[in-house]
Amino acid sequence: AEGRGRFRRFTPEMDPRLGKRRGAMRLEAELREALAQDALTCHYQPIRLLASGGLLGFEALARWPHATRGFVSPTEFIPIAEAAGLIVPLTHHLLRMACRDAAAWPQPATLSFNLSPLHLTESDLPRQVAQVLEETGLPPGRLQLELTEGALLGDLRQGHAMLSELKAMGVRLALDDFGTGHSGLRELQALPFDVIKVDAGFVRAMASDAGARKIVAAIIGLGESLGLPVVAEGIEEELDVEFLTRLGCDMGQGWLLGRPVPAGQVAALMQGAARAAGRLDAA
Ligand code: C2E
Ligand code: MG
Ligand code: MG
Ligand code: MG
Repeated sequence: AEGRGRFRRFTPEMDPRLGKRRGAMRLEAELREALAQDALTCHYQPIRLLASGGLLGFEALARWPHATRGFVSPTEFIPIAEAAGLIVPLTHHLLRMACRDAAAWPQPATLSFNLSPLHLTESDLPRQVAQVLEETGLPPGRLQLELTEGALLGDLRQGHAMLSELKAMGVRLALDDFGTGHSGLRELQALPFDVIKVDAGFVRAMASDAGARKIVAAIIGLGESLGLPVVAEGIEEELDVEFLTRLGCDMGQGWLLGRPVPAGQVAALMQGAARAAGRLDAA
C-alpha cells in the first residue's frame, strides 16, 4: 500500500481494520458492563395526532449514557448487542423498564417499543412479553411492538406464528421504517400488523423531492386500502405536516412534534405543562 519496492515488517497496528475491531471489542465489553450495571435506559418520543397535536403515545428509544462518549446511539450499540449475543437480555431489561414507566404514566397512552429482528427467531418471545406485562401491570393493549421489514425476511412462518401469538395476547404490532426494506405487499397483507410507520428518510426528503412525496403518498394509500393507519416518522418542519395531512396521514412523530425525553419528563409533557419548555428545547 505504500508503493513498490518498499519493505517493512508487519505490525498489527498497520492494519486499520484491526484497530477498528479492537474498538468494537472494547465497546462490546463496555456494553456488557453497562448492561450488568443497569446503566442502559430509554428516552421517550411523543407520537401525536397531526391535526390537533394530541398525544397518542410514546416510542421508547434505547439510550446508553457512556462515560466518555455521551449518549451512544442505538444505531451503533444495537448491532453490537446483536452480534455479541446481548440483544435478548438487553431487550428484556429495556422492555421491563419501559413497561414499568408506561404503567405509571398519568394517562393511558400507548408505549411503542422496538424489537430487533433477531427476536422473531427466539420462540420464547411471546411468553417473555406476557411475563413483563404481568410483572409491570401494563395492559397488553397499551404495548405496541415495532418491527422492521428486515425482521420478516428470515423464517416467515415462525415469525408469523409468533406475531399471531402476540396479537392474540392483545399486544399491537407496528411495521417500522416501511419502504426501506424488502417486504412484499403479500407479507404486509398476511401479517397481523396494526400500524405502518413511514421511514423518516422519505418524510425528510418530502419538502425538496417530488419522488419522495410520491412514495409517501403511495404508502399512505396502501395503508388506506389495507385498513392500516400510518404514522409518519422524522417530521422536522411545518411543511411536512402540511404535506402529510393533505395526503391523508393523521399521525406523526419527529423533532417538530417533540424530541425524545427522559422518563422523568413524560408526565409533565402529558399534563401539557412543559409544552412551551419542550419547544424551547427543540429550537
Ligand atoms: P426507529 O425505531 O425508526 O426510531 C426513530 C429514530 O428517529 C430515533 O433514533 C429517533 O430519535 C429519530 N428521530 C425521531 N424524530 C426525528 C426527527 O425529526 N429527525 C431526525 N433526524 N431523527 C428523528 P434513535 O433513537 O437514534 O434510534 C435509532 C434506531 O435504533 C431506531 O429507529 C430503532 O430501529 C433502533 N432502536 C432504538 N431503540 C431500540 C431498542 O430498544 N431496541 C432495538 N432493537 N432497537 C432500537
Ligand atoms: Mg421504531
Ligand atoms: Mg422507524
Ligand atoms: Mg429508523
